Amino acid sequence: MVTAGQPQLLLGDLLERARREIPAAGADELEAQRVRLLGRKGELSALLRGMGALPAGERPAAGAAVNAARDEIEALLTARREAILREARAAELGGAPIDVTLPGRRIAARGRRHPVSEAQDDLVEILARMGYEVAEGPEIELDYYNFEALNMPPDHPARDMQDTFYVRPPAGARTAGPILLRTHTSPVQIRTMLARPPPVRICSPGKVYRRDDDPTHSPMFHQIEVLCVDRDITFGHLAGTLDAFVRGFFGEDFRVRLRPSYFPFVEPGAEVDVTCTFCLGKGCRTCKGSGFVEVLGAGLVHPRVLRAVGYDPEEVSGFAFGCGIDRLAMLRSGIDDLRLFFENDLRFLEQA
Ligand SMILES: [Zn+2]
Repeated sequence: MVTAGQPQLLLGDLLERARREIPAAGADELEAQRVRLLGRKGELSALLRGMGALPAGERPAAGAAVNAARDEIEALLTARREAILREARAAELGGAPIDVTLPGRRIAARGRRHPVSEAQDDLVEILARMGYEVAEGPEIELDYYNFEALNMPPDHPARDMQDTFYVRPPAGARTAGPILLRTHTSPVQIRTMLARPPPVRICSPGKVYRRDDDPTHSPMFHQIEVLCVDRDITFGHLAGTLDAFVRGFFGEDFRVRLRPSYFPFVEPGAEVDVTCTFCLGKGCRTCKGSGFVEVLGAGLVHPRVLRAVGYDPEEVSGFAFGCGIDRLAMLRSGIDDLRLFFENDLRFLEQA
């Protein structure tokens, strides 16, 4: 018990104990010492309180002695704390040597690009080498850009070829006609041509939406379309570009075959077949023995489409073609169910 009559004597004892015990204390013990000696309810505080009972003449000297003791104890604590850290570090360095030549730990699972992204990047690169730039547009689109400007007025039967998701605009919103999720990336062609004069050479990759869901169709899929408009563009330019496009993606041995077909926004139009990736042209069940599979749609841009964007069909002509990126990726990797691409099963994605 600390009492007021003999503070100097008690202070001497306290310091002596501190000088003996602190330099020998471990890390946990050190903190306990600090609290016991310097804490608010510690021994030094008790001594200070006891000094109130001293005669006024003795108080300054006693106060100075307590402060000096506090400084010394703090210095002892700091010195011991640093010594403990030094010892720990020395132990660490003196332990088992580190072999810096050992191989590092391997990362167990490394991410990779999705097969559809890979296919898209490859296609864009092939087209970039031929001078095409990438153009993008909104996925929520006006009916005008998706259908009407592409030679599909409201009653056009070809609209039934593409089961469309319509979007209900917010109540009270004023829109320039019906709104939908784009069913193809062709509206990007319209927007691009409206924004600049010919010549135009673009490709537009992106997501498109149709009301389909079965092993070879998904309500959301990816498309890439190519548009070239300039003076004197002919069907020969289209065929040559298709050939380079297909061989760039699948390999030099692949061939294209064009069959007459109908799309409202081109005239003439063609279905484009590519050497079957499963049998390499020998004929199999997938290609029904023909050696070819249908992959793209193509044609010369319809004069009505050119006029709709303010181009003069007497001055310029153009070709366009488009295809599903997912379908190309499926064919290239021999996958027969489109839905595998969107289920995000890592076992599939790692081997695709
Ligand atoms: Zn085949």
